[in-house]
Amino acid sequence: AKDIHQILDEQPIVNAKQIQLWEWIASYYLCTMGDVMRAALPNAFILESETVIILNTNKTLNDSELKDDDFLVYEALHHQSSLKIHDIANILDKKNVLPVIKRLLDKDAVFVEEEIYEKYKPKLVRYVKLHSRFASEKALQTLLNDLKRAPKQSQVVLTLFSVSAKTKKPVKVSDLIDESDASHAIVKTLIDKSILEEYYIQTDRVQYSGDDNEVSKVLNEFQTIALQEIKESFKNQNIALLHGVTSSGKTEVYVKLIEDTLALGKQVLYLLPEIALTTQLVTRLQNYFGEQVAIYHSKYSSQERVEVWNHVLENNSKAQIVLGARSSIFLPFDNLGLIIVDEEHEQSFKQFDPAPRYHARDTAIVLANIHHSKTLLGSATPSLESYFNAQQNKYGLVEINMRYNNVLMPDIELVDIKDKHKRKLMKGHFSDRLIDDMTEALSEGQQIILFQNRRGFSPIVECNTCGHSPQCPNCDVSLTYHQYRDQLRCHYCGYHTVMLKNCSACGSVELDSKGFGTEQIEEEVKILFPDYKVARMDLDTTRGKYGYEKIITAFEQQEVDILVGTQMLTKGLDFRNVKLVGVLNADNMLNFPDFRAHERSFQLLLQVSGRAGRTDDRGKVLIQTYNPYHTILQQVSTNDYMGMYKEQMNERYNYKYPPIYKQIKITLKHKDYNKVDMGSIWYAKSLRQIFGDAILGPESPPIGRIRNQFHKNILIKIPKKQSLSKTKEAVIKVNNSFLSIKEFRSVKVILNVDNF
Ligand code: ADP
Ligand code: ZN
Ligand code: ZN
Repeated sequence: AKDIHQILDEQPIVNAKQIQLWEWIASYYLCTMGDVMRAALPNAFILESETVIILNTNKTLNDSELKDDDFLVYEALHHQSSLKIHDIANILDKKNVLPVIKRLLDKDAVFVEEEIYEKYKPKLVRYVKLHSRFASEKALQTLLNDLKRAPKQSQVVLTLFSVSAKTKKPVKVSDLIDESDASHAIVKTLIDKSILEEYYIQTDRVQYSGDDNEVSKVLNEFQTIALQEIKESFKNQNIALLHGVTSSGKTEVYVKLIEDTLALGKQVLYLLPEIALTTQLVTRLQNYFGEQVAIYHSKYSSQERVEVWNHVLENNSKAQIVLGARSSIFLPFDNLGLIIVDEEHEQSFKQFDPAPRYHARDTAIVLANIHHSKTLLGSATPSLESYFNAQQNKYGLVEINMRYNNVLMPDIELVDIKDKHKRKLMKGHFSDRLIDDMTEALSEGQQIILFQNRRGFSPIVECNTCGHSPQCPNCDVSLTYHQYRDQLRCHYCGYHTVMLKNCSACGSVELDSKGFGTEQIEEEVKILFPDYKVARMDLDTTRGKYGYEKIITAFEQQEVDILVGTQMLTKGLDFRNVKLVGVLNADNMLNFPDFRAHERSFQLLLQVSGRAGRTDDRGKVLIQTYNPYHTILQQVSTNDYMGMYKEQMNERYNYKYPPIYKQIKITLKHKDYNKVDMGSIWYAKSLRQIFGDAILGPESPPIGRIRNQFHKNILIKIPKKQSLSKTKEAVIKVNNSFLSIKEFRSVKVILNVDNF
């Protein structure tokens, strides 16, 4: 035990329910409590310390015992409880103050201590008011008379007087300066003369300025039935899945449930995949719920996050509804009544790196249990996991099969580009079919969305003479050509270099690009449709805080006719005027080496299709593919979720994949290939001795080296009836023995429970 050094907070900033959740995360996802805390707590809560000098009140010195400098500091300490080194430097107006401190210490006059503080600083805004002695009209008249010779000063006083009479609110210095056209210096003079008084008010960094008071919409019959069914199901079960086709109006159903929860005096957590925290949904919810909506996601600064944290902690009126990305499950809720997981099928709810490798949807369900609250999962294309749970009656299941306003589901057509290539009916990556439909939509004043899964210009640059293609020096991948910057870039480690003029293997100038990304599509569109405005939405164009928002707004306001983008486009966006959606190539995602590739392609394609024709006219979707007879594409074109579900579940049964089997993926990393190779063989062998053929691997992943680290994967498949906690105990044992072997100690091991 150590002495208490300093009390930082009057009230704990973390509550017992959070600790309970965090302990669950650490044990379920096999990581440390420290890992969880690092993810949970905003950076600004991390403590810093600074050396301070404190007066020793047990010792009194005579002035004569102290030299000049020492005396000045000693005096100052009688007025201030502590002084920092730089305070002392200011007082003495010199840099090296250590001799002074040393002499004071020698005389026992002071202590040196470490003061600990949070990096979080409340935001203070500067205000001014007229000094109270000018409260009467007469005193004010006299003042203005006195200021006759100083017209600028009297202008400031008059402005302040009229602004505060008009608004009846405190006046910010910045507003006063704007209104009176005065300078900071004039205001300062008035403060120095005690005519004005300055003061500070703590203000939120995140300010909401919108028009609230919009009442929520009247539900149509399908929404009303769904709402009833959800409420009914909540009587017996804590979790319900709302499977409603795109644009069926799920959000409005959520809104009604939120209203009910608020009326009970309880908090609501509304989870969304990161990128979908668009102005669109935020605005919709803020219109209904005004200032009660708090927002929490990764583009917020850590100071802003602390502010939201504190509002939630205080359970105050500014955070009754938290709209957040996955990390918002860590907030200090006290009294949650409802958690909504919108777009619950989204992969981005799972954190890959670093630990905790948690899934926010699954963790949200645990959080809801802790609070004895309900969870509603919503999606037009539910994950197999959730739909399976609903089929097993673990969750309630509610469906909406009609779009709002009885708009028809979009007409989805598969375009065989293999055949079109043969018949030379392609212009670049556009089939004649797609060009025709685009031309028609544009001529009718409609907007178009074009989806391409890859960013950049082309993912592979290849020499036509020798076949060499430039690779990342740190990873086993080809570099992607980005035309806009004329660079070759690695999408795994960020490495970049200027585009080569010659092949680095044979010197030939005949470099060709293979495959295509969003940049190339954007360029082709500009050539095909020079009279229309094109924008691109991918990781490269949305980096800034408002990057994403700007593009969405421009498209919403129809300043842009054609929007080209990656899967960012698919997430819950609601545009009024999009008639046509084009998918340039559906094949690469279908062929992705992952057991979820088919499920995911189905979700992605239906979601992007769902952006078409959301208002009146039926939308049109064209999916270009080399393989129009692929079952997934057939299921997409007929909106056959059940067909997809049954077939994919069959495969998961047969090949022992989730949700039938649980799995833990173990990844070993090291810069020395031999080490990782030998280590992973040892590791897999030890696991096999316990689990037999439930172990797969070790295997090199498709990209065997990233950031100069070689990777090997081992997979454990766990039948539902096998105890997960016993399995994990065994894994931890193997892991500990592995790390105790000297030659493997430097190998990094990543345990990923429920890997995606
Ligand atoms: P989903 O989330 O299921 O894709 P949304 O909630 O975005 O669907 O609804 C689609 C569109 O229909 C939105 O523009 C929404 O404002 C509108 N809408 C949905 N329900 C209603 C309603 N009851 N009254 C009026 N408009 C509605
Ligand atoms: Zn070459
Ligand atoms: Zn790289």
